[in-house]
Amino acid sequence: MSDLSRPVGPKIIAVANQKGGVGKTTTTINLAAALAESGKRVLVVDLDPQGNASTGLGIDVEDREYTTYELLLEDITLDKVVLKTETPGLHIVPATVDLSSADLELISNEKRSFLLHDALRQTQMDSYAFDYILIDCPPSLNLLTVNAMIAAHSVLVPLQSEFFALEGLSQLMLTIREVRQSGNKDLRIEGVVLTMYDQRNNLSQQVEQDARANLGELVYQTVIPRNVRVSEAPSFSMPVLSYDSGSKGAKAYRDLAQEILVNGVI
Ligand code: ADP
Ligand code: MG
Repeated sequence: MSDLSRPVGPKIIAVANQKGGVGKTTTTINLAAALAESGKRVLVVDLDPQGNASTGLGIDVEDREYTTYELLLEDITLDKVVLKTETPGLHIVPATVDLSSADLELISNEKRSFLLHDALRQTQMDSYAFDYILIDCPPSLNLLTVNAMIAAHSVLVPLQSEFFALEGLSQLMLTIREVRQSGNKDLRIEGVVLTMYDQRNNLSQQVEQDARANLGELVYQTVIPRNVRVSEAPSFSMPVLSYDSGSKGAKAYRDLAQEILVNGVI
């Protein structure tokens, strides 16, 4: 489905699922790298206090002078927090553990749900002219995730091909509906991607069947296989596309990027 309502500017996608360990960060990093590889200018916003996306893209903690925390809670503009990564065309707003107090600090702020929305729409950003902004959400439906959903055009949901994969999805959908009612009425579901898929495992196939039966066209044709190269890449501070360009994991993330590129206007 094309997205004709979207004005010119970056397409903003929140990568969200309140379960931890389902592949949000891995998908953010590698989808971003795959989009950059196909010539798009991509920004990753690390919205998880664990900072795994920042580490996985090679940003040392001591180089994270300004972070998502300052972007949300202090008067620091986007151009000051954006860092280059080793991947051409791929930038990041890093996060540190400081962000873990943001959820509480935001509560008393009148604009608490709109801080990321406003920060990503500052005029300074024009100089970067990103095509895509991917937001790596924390494993919770907290105020940070709500900020991501208010800021975004769509939500991409990674589902781990495991027991109980679909459990919790109704809560996520409820939050999306609430966000639509409270400030982002056009928020869409970009798609659902099955991660850590094991072809030889009946369980993976069962989860895939359930997901396709329940969610239909929302589920991407591309499934991301469980692949050891994918899990090794972050410890070498790079996306799997750079770490092992010919690996099954790299290929799958390229395929996912292509599905997303043909679905969107850009
Ligand atoms: P989340 O951000 O949702 O908490 P992560 O992306 O950090 O999840 O993934 C959880 C763990 O699973 C990490 O150790 C990651 O390296 C591993 N992982 C994710 N995707 C794959 C994959 N396709 N193959 C192998 N390991 C994976
Ligand atoms: Mg994560």
